Amino acid sequence: MAGVYISYPFCAQKCTYCNFASGVFPAALEGEYFESLVAEIRGTEWPWTPETVYLGGGTPSQMDPGALGRLLEAIPGRGWREATIEAAPGGITAEKAEAWARAGINRVSLGVQSFAEAELRGTGRRHTAGIVEREVETLRASGISNISVDLISGLPNQTGETWADSLDWVRRLEVPHASVYMLEVDEDSRLGLEILDGGTKYGAGRVPREEEIAEFYERAADRMAEHGLERYEISNFARAGYESVHNLKYWRLEPYLGFGADAHSYREGRRWRNEETPAQYVARMRKEGTAVVERTAAVLEEEYFFLGLRQMEGVEAEPGRIAPYREAVERLVEMGLVEYDGRRLRLTRRGVLLSNDVFEVFIHTCPASSI
Ligand code: SF4
Repeated sequence: MAGVYISYPFCAQKCTYCNFASGVFPAALEGEYFESLVAEIRGTEWPWTPETVYLGGGTPSQMDPGALGRLLEAIPGRGWREATIEAAPGGITAEKAEAWARAGINRVSLGVQSFAEAELRGTGRRHTAGIVEREVETLRASGISNISVDLISGLPNQTGETWADSLDWVRRLEVPHASVYMLEVDEDSRLGLEILDGGTKYGAGRVPREEEIAEFYERAADRMAEHGLERYEISNFARAGYESVHNLKYWRLEPYLGFGADAHSYREGRRWRNEETPAQYVARMRKEGTAVVERTAAVLEEEYFFLGLRQMEGVEAEPGRIAPYREAVERLVEMGLVEYDGRRLRLTRRGVLLSNDVFEVFIHTCPASSI
């Protein structure tokens, strides 16, 4: 079963920790982008009717609800099994939530990141815990009860106490899904760059130590389990039956089509991606009627392991399939990072924390591509 991803990289502000190709762009570009997006979706030959739709970015929740309806009408099928919109807290009104529900949206992923004001203010986010609480009620009143909350461990000013408070808010809101990420420190965000440079801007001098971030993350897994949200993927926790159907497709190598700037697609062993920035995307769409810039043959064996292992259930790995990696797997078992029972391979709790090291092993011991 296949999915659709729509990228809407427009935001009200650029958050200090954000390393996505999203941000604040001129209103005129947003209008042009929207028209290109509709054209790209309408111009697609659909090999199937999608099962899931996911609007991410970016802040697709800032889109005019009428425009959102027009965009969704361009996608075949109605009554999708799961249709998610990523939303920034602070702008969800009853009218908006009802319009989303009418347009087919049945899941909202709230980019809360923290419930502590001292953490939020430093990042550029303007909401409060009270606003999130009201908006969750608004969504439920409109009929959307499948709600997810995102949190980040490692934000500046985060302490054991503020983190415990954020985790407790997840319990209080009784949402059926939460995603918990560790702060990514790289050159693609202003905060990451500042940390790497040893500076103090954006609260870079006040981020928790690495061991503390890992400890917060571990504590999150325990608290989520106490709230009835089981970890089903490295960063994702859900009540039974509320796992993200769309995101599971990425880890299970099921097909999906991506639309918009920097959107990726995967189908029949092939991957492709669009131009990265909104301006480049609009320009190429206008000139060529397509925005695809890169096509590659997916390396399926390698991806089967490093994507599939993100799921707590692990991957099927009969001895024949594991043979090219046998030595590496034995080493990982000895290190306590994976479990292997002769049929399934899965990460241990310690392996979750060091998952990038585990995936590296698979990438570097990968035999020839299966394509
Ligand atoms: S974190 Fe979300 S809202 Fe903030 S800039 Fe990135 S995509 Fe936009």
